[in-house]
Amino acid sequence: MRLVTTLLFGLLLTACKPAVEVEVVAEKGPLDSGIKHMVLIAIDTVRADTFFAPDEHNFKDRLSPWLESARVYTQAQSVSPWTIPTVATVLTGYLPNQHGAGSFPTALANLDLQTPTAIHSSVKTLPERLSEVGFRARAASSHPWLSVKFGLQRGFRNVTLIQSREEIDAWFKSFVGNWQASKINQRNFAYLHYMEAHQRHTSKFKNGAFAELTNEQIQRGLDWSKLDACKRGTERKICQQYIVYTNAVLDLRDSIANTLEVLETNDFLKDTLVVIYSDHGEEFHDHWAEATADDTDPRGLHGFGHGNSMYQELLRVPLLIWNPADNKGRVVDNPVSLVDIVPSALNWLNVDIGEDKLTGLLFDDAEKLSERAVFASHMAYGPEQVAVRKGSKKSIWNTVNDSLRYFDLVVDQNEKKPIESDGLVMLFDQLNYDYFEMSSNGVGVQPEINEEQLAHLKAIGYLQGAESNNNSVETTPGPALDLSDISNAGAVEQTETIEEEDNDDDKNHE
Ligand SMILES: [Zn+2]
Repeated sequence: MRLVTTLLFGLLLTACKPAVEVEVVAEKGPLDSGIKHMVLIAIDTVRADTFFAPDEHNFKDRLSPWLESARVYTQAQSVSPWTIPTVATVLTGYLPNQHGAGSFPTALANLDLQTPTAIHSSVKTLPERLSEVGFRARAASSHPWLSVKFGLQRGFRNVTLIQSREEIDAWFKSFVGNWQASKINQRNFAYLHYMEAHQRHTSKFKNGAFAELTNEQIQRGLDWSKLDACKRGTERKICQQYIVYTNAVLDLRDSIANTLEVLETNDFLKDTLVVIYSDHGEEFHDHWAEATADDTDPRGLHGFGHGNSMYQELLRVPLLIWNPADNKGRVVDNPVSLVDIVPSALNWLNVDIGEDKLTGLLFDDAEKLSERAVFASHMAYGPEQVAVRKGSKKSIWNTVNDSLRYFDLVVDQNEKKPIESDGLVMLFDQLNYDYFEMSSNGVGVQPEINEEQLAHLKAIGYLQGAESNNNSVETTPGPALDLSDISNAGAVEQTETIEEEDNDDDKNHE
């Protein structure tokens, strides 16, 4: 039970505000860095621990030598555990409660049954900003959500939908060939979105993806795994799926290296900014016991996939940057957020955003801050939750039943031992309040607050005079979707287990 009273809240406001740093970008003029082009790459569904496992185990691949000149963010935090809210943040520079994409009409999200909202029409996208100043903006994506009208496609002259990483790699090589042939002042922006890590352990798993692996690949996956699911080797289906996943992630590292090599071969690495991110991770029963006890997933599933929780296996993602104006590689262990990508990129590319104010920080500043607060929200399955991380501390707030869990990620990186502390209650009540406040910053839209969230805020002293405004927000509907296949963020061929034993009836799939 939390102890915050109206009086405490008043004191807190006086003592702590502003608890988060926002809107710093417009105060800094863009640098004249000489960076001309940008390549932004999404590797969908890649959790950070799996992405960095080869480097921790001294395994050398085609990407390894490139890491020496990269900024490697080991504690990058996503803004949501599934695709639409996160990619919308990466393409706008606003948090999910600001850009509006990826919300559902009810307090209990169910991406299986409901069409999520699109980016508010008043929010400008990165490709729109870049196109305005003369960039050619093109995208190649294996994710169909970039081809329909959630707003993720806005600003691209075209989005090429292709299936495999090999096809995206080839598309990119061809696009860069086009840079050579174009006018000397032509600037280019390429967005690539790969899906191998999303797909291979789910829809392709049934088709024998595990049987295709060599003994060496299987052993490597086992050696790298820190999962309980693999404690008994590959006996369990969930572990087999993880091994397939690790090999898909290795393939994505290969595609990243390919992109860098294409740029280098064509002499564009000297003036191209390259940013690699994943939109969210993937759960392989990491919090199966907690999910089973909570039992809030409307699909009746527990502890598999994404969109279903706010734990770090879904929110900690790889983020790497190659910046030709600063190519001294370094490993950054302070928390940064994916919302920092747009302000940082626009600053490095010397693109003015006028009077607009973006939410993130410049990476150059953010990476020096160990205690900065970073936020995530917008579930795909289950009650809406808000995660806030500040330094090593983290809270997860279930806004529907108003329960909070607090963790210390240094002593308990797997989030298995919730802690209790009045200090954390006060700190995170303030930060959760700040997050709601931010929804009205920058883009001039009404915060989206439902009855239950409003009741909670009122109970702890906030927004006393406010009305629920669920009906007043702009909720541009997406087109009617077939959510049964690739476009379903986490529900494709889930693993359903009752007693954490593998169950191969596949009753809950597609
Ligand atoms: Zn995704």
